[in-house]
Amino acid sequence: MNLSDKYLFYQTRKQLPVIKKAEGIHMWDHSGKEYIDGCSGAVISNIGYGNKRIAQRIAQQAQETFFAYRIHFENQPAMDLARKLVSLSASHLKKIFYVSGGSEAVESAMKLCLQYYHTKGQGTKYLFVSRKPSYHGCTLGALGITSYSPLEIPFKAAVKANLKIPAPFCYRCAYGMAYPACGLRCAHALEEAILDNGAENIAAFVAEPVGGASTGATVPPEEYFSVIQSICRRYDIMLILDEVMTGFGRTGKLFAYEHWNVRADIVALSKGMASGYYPLGAIMTSDEIVDVILDGGGFAHGHTYAGNPMACAVGEEVLDIILESDLVSNAAVIGDYLKQGLEILQNSHPIIGDVRGLGLLLAIELVKDRQAKTPFASDVSANFMLADAAFNHGLIIYPRKPINGLKGDHLLVAPPLITTEPEADTILERLDTSLTIVEKTLM
Ligand code: PLP
Repeated sequence: MNLSDKYLFYQTRKQLPVIKKAEGIHMWDHSGKEYIDGCSGAVISNIGYGNKRIAQRIAQQAQETFFAYRIHFENQPAMDLARKLVSLSASHLKKIFYVSGGSEAVESAMKLCLQYYHTKGQGTKYLFVSRKPSYHGCTLGALGITSYSPLEIPFKAAVKANLKIPAPFCYRCAYGMAYPACGLRCAHALEEAILDNGAENIAAFVAEPVGGASTGATVPPEEYFSVIQSICRRYDIMLILDEVMTGFGRTGKLFAYEHWNVRADIVALSKGMASGYYPLGAIMTSDEIVDVILDGGGFAHGHTYAGNPMACAVGEEVLDIILESDLVSNAAVIGDYLKQGLEILQNSHPIIGDVRGLGLLLAIELVKDRQAKTPFASDVSANFMLADAAFNHGLIIYPRKPINGLKGDHLLVAPPLITTEPEADTILERLDTSLTIVEKTLM
């Protein structure tokens, strides 16, 4: 077998092992080495690997059709999945628009919002407010609301400048304040941005309910979203929630907005929706928004693969598995267990400055000095050192830099929602070993 990758390129020149098989939360490469996927790939594999029901559903759907173009035919899996999503989501979210991934979902949410205001004769509302740091995708539109410097710098000239307010990142508060004495200044910053730029120029505020890769599982203070929501209403600004990472049970609720009863105008979904078995994403929105667009001539947007019957059949099966196996509750229970385990590791590893997250979207942040929260120099790449040590010891975790992608070191610990207590223990053991190795070098 030829395992050469000389014709492929992704982000770096790093040589990677070739995957042979994956089952549950475990993966094996061609040499036979076993790994636990402690970050569900890119926080996508909510139901874990190798689920036979998905293979059967794909085989069954393949007998009927792989494809039918959405402007020629409806298809049963697309309609069935949409009906299930509507029945499981907030009562005002009644319409589904399919895409094939997270960036496409975010782009579609932005374009739906812009076209809505344009159709209503409010075409000056074209600016988005989002947060710093944040990650909403790599296409040019989604990048325009992302704040993570290394991903933005090469494309600055081509990306529309939107408005950014500080993320609710209490461990590294942009104002140097502490909750609750801060009075939620980061939420009120939305109103300042609106007043400075004029509500008539602003279309929407976009946020991840729980911070994802860019901040490392930052959970907002309890009242954050009620402040945000009332500001959005006061100034006729849409609230778009990017649940690409948090949706489908990841945080211990089917959708993370349920934690705070947030009423979003548009919700972007992907990742856990098909759990890596097929490219799939969607936006959910209200009848009111869709009626304005359709009465105005139709949504001027759509991708060729949207509503693909195969992808939707997989999405429907994944959703059934999540519900039937109660993976949402498991994410809450095992998430608490794993978080407690990470806090215990923090007691014996001074390199861990912070443990945070909700459900099975967890993270640890590494620091040189815990008291002062001093990050390691960025060229040390403490996060990649730990990710590499863990990989060598059979644990995959997801490294990023929380200070807008430039500094600091955090790692997402977000295994599939099927993880059991003994498996969480193994994750913690492998992490413990890896932390000891990195601390020997760095501390
Ligand atoms: N939004 C969030 C919150 C994400 O975490 C991601 C990916 O990590 C995206 C959007 C983009 O999704 P995709 O990589 O599928 O385009």
